[in-house]
Amino acid sequence: MSRITLHLGDITTDGEADVLVNAANSGLLGGGGVDGAIHRAAGPEILPECRAHGGCPTGEVRVTSAGRLPARFIVHAVGPIWHGGERGEPELLASCFERAIAAAAERGGRRVALPAISTGIYRYPLERAAHVALTATARALARHPEVVEARFWLFDERAHATFARVRDDLGLQE
Ligand code: ADP
Repeated sequence: MSRITLHLGDITTDGEADVLVNAANSGLLGGGGVDGAIHRAAGPEILPECRAHGGCPTGEVRVTSAGRLPARFIVHAVGPIWHGGERGEPELLASCFERAIAAAAERGGRRVALPAISTGIYRYPLERAAHVALTATARALARHPEVVEARFWLFDERAHATFARVRDDLGLQE
């Protein structure tokens, strides 16, 4: 059975994932937070591919190579900006994780590293985001058993503890 594992720290240090998911913005050309860290670590060689996509709507994903990162490719996912929860934010966030796992599976990815999309600059409340992220990822893994591990990278203790608690509440096993 596929596993969901939780990790504390910087997603760009993951040496085991063959796919890295980025919390991108709709322009796909890099930005702050995890997006900036991934672009810095991958290097400018991925920019022409990002540019060629011509952007990405919220809730969707686009794939590029991983440049200098050890992963095989990057799935850029555009999470929703939090506006209070009545503008389809949960569905759009779930769609990011479902499509990211599906895109990884289509290309033979087995271990996927994921950040807590939308919980930084996009202000999605952490606990609600953890619930959506873990539920949608578990659902996607059940559909794509060739992906054996979803590796969530949480950037601080609070995010790590919140994801761990929500994972327990949902009855998901490590
Ligand atoms: P968004 O715009 O989707 O909210 P952010 O990058 O601002 O994206 O934040 C998403 C989450 O990623 C936040 O919880 C933030 O703390 C976290 N984060 C920032 N840098 C990194 C990193 N290098 N590795 C993993 N997570 C990170």
